[in-house]
Amino acid sequence: MSKKKSIEKLGEFGLIDHLTKGIKITNTKSVFGIGDDAAVIDSGEDYQLLSTDLLVEGVHFDLAYVPLKHLGYKSIAVNVSDICAMNGSAQQITIGLAISNRFTVEALEELYEGVKLACEHYSVDLVGGDTTSSATGLMISVSVLGIVEKKKITYRNGAKKNDLVVCTGDLGAAYLGLQVLNRENLIFKDNPKVQPDLTGHDYVLKRQLRPDAGIKYVKILEELGVTPSSMIDISDGLSSEVLHISKASNVGITIYENKIPIDYTVMNLADEFKMNPITCALSGGEDYELLFTMGQEHHEKLKKDPDFTIIGFVTDNSEGNNFIANDGSSHILTAQGWQLTKKQ
Ligand code: ADP
Ligand code: MG
Repeated sequence: MSKKKSIEKLGEFGLIDHLTKGIKITNTKSVFGIGDDAAVIDSGEDYQLLSTDLLVEGVHFDLAYVPLKHLGYKSIAVNVSDICAMNGSAQQITIGLAISNRFTVEALEELYEGVKLACEHYSVDLVGGDTTSSATGLMISVSVLGIVEKKKITYRNGAKKNDLVVCTGDLGAAYLGLQVLNRENLIFKDNPKVQPDLTGHDYVLKRQLRPDAGIKYVKILEELGVTPSSMIDISDGLSSEVLHISKASNVGITIYENKIPIDYTVMNLADEFKMNPITCALSGGEDYELLFTMGQEHHEKLKKDPDFTIIGFVTDNSEGNNFIANDGSSHILTAQGWQLTKKQ
């Protein structure tokens, strides 16, 4: 019997590469296909942007502790985030729903309350979708259409040697929010009489349950006249996104431990969970901040805005991707974080 290939071995990105190998773009209006946060379509004066994200119960969310209203909001926000990552503005969405029969109409109304709230907040129009039943669980597939001026479009592949690497907001909070929810959920399962204690964790819980897309950062960049040379949204953890930009741009990237923006609540809570807050930032994911590179000439413009932190710089490809720890030691940055062994 021939040996079957296992998906696990390939990993998510390996699988996408494997399945889409050799796929070519043939329509003249398709400008860029697979490999960025959104596909790019020529619409005359501007570019249109198109992206899809799928949220699956039991994989991306657990309804034991995720309120449906927040889930509805999040499913829109994560799609808008991919449009932000192209320096664009989201305009329309469609929603595909697969629902098992354990859901009530009231539950789905709640989901849609969150959807409507997000549509209002991001000024996007819900223009269609599809609804079907599922054997188990809930699945939400959202597609988003956006728009961007041609001269402002920002791909993952434009980072240049000597560019600065910038990160918006702060990192690691969404991951710790998930740890709090998991902890309280386990306590509740053990003893249903104990009510979950979520007090004092508002910030990390909001970051996990109801994240926001970076529309305000895209707006500020426009106002300051900064067009990044490359950009990606931080959905899988900082290190994974750094590697995506460096691979797409064919450059190396060096980032500094002491520059990574982390909220003080994340510092304290990581301590409580006996975790390193930097690990939460590098490998945690779901922060939906933006990571971008820009020419050094823009440094002055962003310097005073605490929303933006310069965390490193772009190097020649031959230097690889490096993490400089607080003690000055250099480590190889990997998708999971950084290698413990020091670079020789
Ligand atoms: P993001 O994290 O920004 O949502 P992904 O990591 O999910 O992006 O996907 C990486 C790239 O691969 C994107 O350009 C996406 O459109 C493409 N992609 C993902 N899954 C598939 C698939 N099943 N078939 C074709 N393209 C895919
Ligand atoms: Mg993305």
